[in-house]
Amino acid sequence: MSADARTFDYVIVGGGSAGCVLANRLTEDGRHSVLLLEAGPPDRYPWVHIPIGYGKTMFHPVLNWGFYSEPEPHLNGRKIYTPRGRTLGGSSAINGLIQIRGQAEDFDGWEALGATGWNARETLRYFVKSETNSRGASAYHGGGGPLFVSDIAGRHELVEALIAASAELGIPRTDDFNGARQEGAGYLQLTTRNGLRCSAAVAYLKPARHRSNLTIETDAHATGVEFDGRRAAGVRYRRDGAEAAVRAAREVLLCAGAVQSPQLLQLSGVGPAALLREHGIPLVAELPGVGENLQDHLLLRLVYKCTKPITTNDDLRTLWGKARVGLQWALFRTGPLSVGVMIGGMITRARPDAKTPDIQFFLSTVSAEERGAKPHRFPGFTLNFYPLRPTSRGAIRIKSPDPAAAPALLFNYLSTEYDRALMVEGTKLTRKLMATRAFAPYVVEEYKPGAGVRTDDEILECLRDSATTGFHPVGTCRMGRDAGAVVDPRLRVHGLQGLRVVDASVMPTLVSGNTNAATIMIAEKGADLIREDAGKTE
Ligand SMILES: Cc1cc2nc3c(=O)[nH]c(=O)nc-3n(C[C@H](O)[C@H](O)[C@H](O)COP(=O)(O)OP(=O)(O)OC[C@H]3O[C@@H](n4cnc5c(N)ncnc54)[C@H](O)[C@@H]3O)c2cc1C
Repeated sequence: MSADARTFDYVIVGGGSAGCVLANRLTEDGRHSVLLLEAGPPDRYPWVHIPIGYGKTMFHPVLNWGFYSEPEPHLNGRKIYTPRGRTLGGSSAINGLIQIRGQAEDFDGWEALGATGWNARETLRYFVKSETNSRGASAYHGGGGPLFVSDIAGRHELVEALIAASAELGIPRTDDFNGARQEGAGYLQLTTRNGLRCSAAVAYLKPARHRSNLTIETDAHATGVEFDGRRAAGVRYRRDGAEAAVRAAREVLLCAGAVQSPQLLQLSGVGPAALLREHGIPLVAELPGVGENLQDHLLLRLVYKCTKPITTNDDLRTLWGKARVGLQWALFRTGPLSVGVMIGGMITRARPDAKTPDIQFFLSTVSAEERGAKPHRFPGFTLNFYPLRPTSRGAIRIKSPDPAAAPALLFNYLSTEYDRALMVEGTKLTRKLMATRAFAPYVVEEYKPGAGVRTDDEILECLRDSATTGFHPVGTCRMGRDAGAVVDPRLRVHGLQGLRVVDASVMPTLVSGNTNAATIMIAEKGADLIREDAGKTE
């Protein structure tokens, strides 16, 4: 690296859920200088901030990396579209806004797998620290954190039906998926504030961006980590078509997410030796686990035609309807535009003998041929579900030494008997819900997959044809102490100095919920670990 490269104490790569948290926390005491590099543009696109804009960013050519998996061997060779945010806020700028942290047992499980200090009690402190909940502070919720989490304004007949249908099946109502007990059916809480999306950039970066010790560069694509021996010395990146480099006096912090943090490590010579050799990349450190252990929730959507014109499809069908909900949002910050697409949920046990709930459902008051597509012209709604703790494992591997080339994503969805069985159970459970007295007044018919799909074999074939990502890739720079782990419990890359990974890729296993909250928690705790370690050397 050239001697005149600028130097910052910390260089953060990726301004997503985790990167925004670090940028804020590492600059708040004014002692260190921080550079945040984000490959995407600033988050000025209005539909990033209006919750229902989720549909507009799903395939956005600039704000979304729009990856595709390799042909999935157990999904009839389909390439699964895998959106990832590409702007300040990262995936939290384009996600479904659902705030479900996971189960206490997930985090105790992480600790048992070698992630010392990441148990339920310790992680709860950081979940609480990160949050301002519209219900106020409590043992489980924060009242003064940057991330706003809100109740959905108003009630909806279809969520009421879901709660009543669940009760018919013996599943209790819950008012809080993040409280003492996760199981139950009820309304979701969303990462919104006054009807606007509260992305990590809005929550953490906006209040920090005027600090003199924080520099934010957008449209800055990191292409590799520079090493001095085994110490990370800085980052190479491309901006406006030019090559640039920057030095990190203390640390390089990779927050590029579960797809691109392992990609950057591999491009930089840190990863499985054979893979790097294949692409002619000189080895800096052999870490066979980089890119391995890829996990995701596999999701099935069941679409129902509704008897009544009470769905978002109906709200958005006519110009007048659009104007009405637009006005409702503009004047009161309520209505369909303020809530994204999912408003109700249910978490339960597909297998009655499961130790903790093993399946999650979401009710969406809109239906479409695919996510992000135009709503159907008929009244319709969607029940989505995924098993919470899939056992299939895949990998992210570079296909080329060119940093602009997407890596190969292979999820291996449905590669285990457990995953296949749970997806079939989930389909049957959705149908049981729809056959309850509570839903009878609302359901015309199952539009998709439809009555033609009946037996377990037919359901499995339908899953292979149409199941898709739950948008939660994690685990590709797994935390732990064994030979396959990539980072230690302080998030430091094994065998190297001055380099950490702080994002969804460090999760040893998927959380039984959604992944934004847990990623923000990881970065909150990560910031404390980084500051503690800085304190030891000052
Ligand atoms: C469509 C969708 C819906 C989702 N719905 C929900 C939901 O409802 N609830 C929930 O909890 N979770 C949801 N998620 C998942 C959740 O948002 C992610 O798990 C979380 O945001 C991941 O955070 P991260 O910091 O690991 O990565 P990201 O937030 O993806 O951040 C990575 C950042 O790094 C940048 N970057 C990547 N490579 C480079 C590079 N080489 N140089 C510079 N910058 C780079 C990216 O542009 C991005 O901004 C959803 C995700 C998607 C995509």
